[in-house]
Amino acid sequence: MLAICDGVYVEPTATADDQLALRQSVAGAYTTVTKFYGEFTAPHPQMIFCQTQACRAYFIGSYAGVYSPLGFKLPNATYTAGKPTIFITYTSFVGQAHSLTVAHELTHTETLYRYGGGGVPSWFNEGIATLVGNYPDCTSQTANYVADFRTADFEAAVADSSKGDAIYCQAARETNAWITANGKPKLIDLLAGVKAGNQFYTLYGNLINH
Ligand SMILES: [Zn+2]
Repeated sequence: MLAICDGVYVEPTATADDQLALRQSVAGAYTTVTKFYGEFTAPHPQMIFCQTQACRAYFIGSYAGVYSPLGFKLPNATYTAGKPTIFITYTSFVGQAHSLTVAHELTHTETLYRYGGGGVPSWFNEGIATLVGNYPDCTSQTANYVADFRTADFEAAVADSSKGDAIYCQAARETNAWITANGKPKLIDLLAGVKAGNQFYTLYGNLINH
């Protein structure tokens, strides 16, 4: 793999244009996440960008884009990262999407760093990442598909249907409504509170959109 900036790798066959676009995507993602949180506090993750299926099969396995916080092997992949890594098959994301996907995954990096060893529900994690990264595109995704995030199996709902993006967008609407109602400092406090050992729903309260 070829390093295009510190800890960021592409396949050696990536064109100069692709390398430039990816460098810009990485810089843009850091700007986006920093703007949302006020400060980027997590150690910068390694990033591995694939363009071919062979690269994807070796590094990423089943996913197109994912943040892997620990150094484990992804499902159906061969590679073991050994450090927090964002993996993206950028050729799976057309146009602007590959840039926005980096911001989505980098949001996971910062969010997880802030809540640390505490637990947050998957819908909340994906809602924040979708909201901040502005990906997946939610412009035409307005229907609710999950009756109640508190009791639904989020991953199963996403995996089980063609409505994965719509469910992410429902999660993004919920988190956005919560931030609008409570303010950004409360979100920062919520994540710190979870890190300190408090239960997520004790701090979050009732869902806004239910
Ligand atoms: Zn995500």
